[in-house]
Amino acid sequence: MDGPTPDPKTLDRGECNVCGYIYEPVDGDPPRGIKSGTSYDSLPVTWHCPNCNAPLERFKRIGPRSGTLAGFEENASLGIGVNTLNPQVKNLLIFGVLALGFLFLMSFYFMGQ
Ligand SMILES: [Zn+2]
Repeated sequence: MDGPTPDPKTLDRGECNVCGYIYEPVDGDPPRGIKSGTSYDSLPVTWHCPNCNAPLERFKRIGPRSGTLAGFEENASLGIGVNTLNPQVKNLLIFGVLALGFLFLMSFYFMGQ
């Protein structure tokens, strides 16, 4: 009865570079008319991230769920963690340096009185 359909588990998934949402070919995106079993490559260019509405071009291809890329996936999520941490640390450092510099200048100003 069923035709020779490819196993969705072997299809590449796509990860949103903006919010980290992972498009699963196994699930598809039924609310947006993407049937289960639709590969990442077959997504229409008009498709947007269901989570943050980013366009398809902001997605990157990641391997199938049951592939040999599990380690790669871990590294990818680790990279996201570092990337989200860095701007905060940078802001903190910049603010700290500015505040210290300001206090430094003010101390000279008051000592000069
Ligand atoms: Zn997204």
